[in-house]
Amino acid sequence: MKESLSNRIQSLPASATLAMAAKARELKNQGVNVIGLSLGEPDFNTPDFIKQAAIQAVNHNYNSYTPVDGYVALKEAICRKFKRDNQLDYSPSQIVVSTGAKQSIANAIQVLVDPGDDVLLVAPYWVSYSAIVLLAEGNPIEIYSDIKTDFKITPEQLEKSITPKTKMVVINSPNNPSGSVYTEAEYRALAAVLEKYPDIYILSDEIYEHINYGVPHFSFAQIPSMYNRTLTVNGVAKAFAMTGWRIGYLGAPEWIAKACTKMQGQITSGANCIAQRATIAALDGPVANIQYMVDEFATRRERILELLSNIEGFVLNQPKGAFYVFPDISHYFGKTIKGKTIGNASDFALYLLEEAHVATVTGDAFGCPNNIRISYAASMENIEEAVARIQQALT
Ligand code: GLU
Repeated sequence: MKESLSNRIQSLPASATLAMAAKARELKNQGVNVIGLSLGEPDFNTPDFIKQAAIQAVNHNYNSYTPVDGYVALKEAICRKFKRDNQLDYSPSQIVVSTGAKQSIANAIQVLVDPGDDVLLVAPYWVSYSAIVLLAEGNPIEIYSDIKTDFKITPEQLEKSITPKTKMVVINSPNNPSGSVYTEAEYRALAAVLEKYPDIYILSDEIYEHINYGVPHFSFAQIPSMYNRTLTVNGVAKAFAMTGWRIGYLGAPEWIAKACTKMQGQITSGANCIAQRATIAALDGPVANIQYMVDEFATRRERILELLSNIEGFVLNQPKGAFYVFPDISHYFGKTIKGKTIGNASDFALYLLEEAHVATVTGDAFGCPNNIRISYAASMENIEEAVARIQQALT
């Protein structure tokens, strides 16, 4: 029989972050001592108070299908979280719990974007936004930013990118991969532009909210004129070291939340029941419970910036949140090192994997072809060893 996959899947790019992580895992299985700095995954264990809640849920026989949009108790906890941390008023009917923030984003795009609609993405942007837009047959349109503006866009850039086809703009602060955090004033300036275009929706990905080193987090939906057309996405993976538990959620106008529920009712039937119970404990606990991880990320950030700034040709911004550095390494383009020619960022990332056994991700995947992403959600020992290896491979 002829193998005939759909055009849809054939034209879909694989996730560059997951592909690099898989490559690193494969090399490790072959006995190569690879240091994986490709995946944005905290190296901490899920805190005990969350694990206990999960164990209790198992013992109390939480084993049935949950409501498609999540347990009411969890949606209420999410509303409390939005109120406490973001001064946002959502009611449970505006909340949809999903299998990771990735599914929340996919739901949102599937229910709002029609074939041919433009979705504005602020480059650098997380790899999966563009792929998810393509799956919905929308057009991902990049608004480019680089290190000179700390990877942020101006209101003028936003306005220039808007056309009658623009349906949605995706924003993400703290940003993956640049670590940039928009201030309240910067977001209000972008909102002032969007006020002139009442038919554009805003998807605000706030998954790195708590991994923040000082600039106060500001939710786009806090701007009253934006509330009715903003979809606020968050989850527990990053802040609570719960990546594998796969719980994300979205707060949105009720009609959008209903549509997202309908969508996931046909695809997953809802998120995992045990993970949902554990998430109630995570969100109801004081934010101070997780500060030790953020403090540790902050220390690692200082160290990796210090170490990388000693390497020739690494141009760095200072990330204000998340756990990535995103150096411009275009200095190496066209150069031949140890017999290997570096033509672009993908060559560079591959060179680091093969020569230094350090896994990173090419900036192309994030819409910034001069950069690579390095995650510092890894132990200090691994960070120091990885940077030493990188330095050696480049000299
Ligand atoms: N969001 C994380 C990252 O960017 C996890 C992998 C993924 O889903 O892309 O590394």
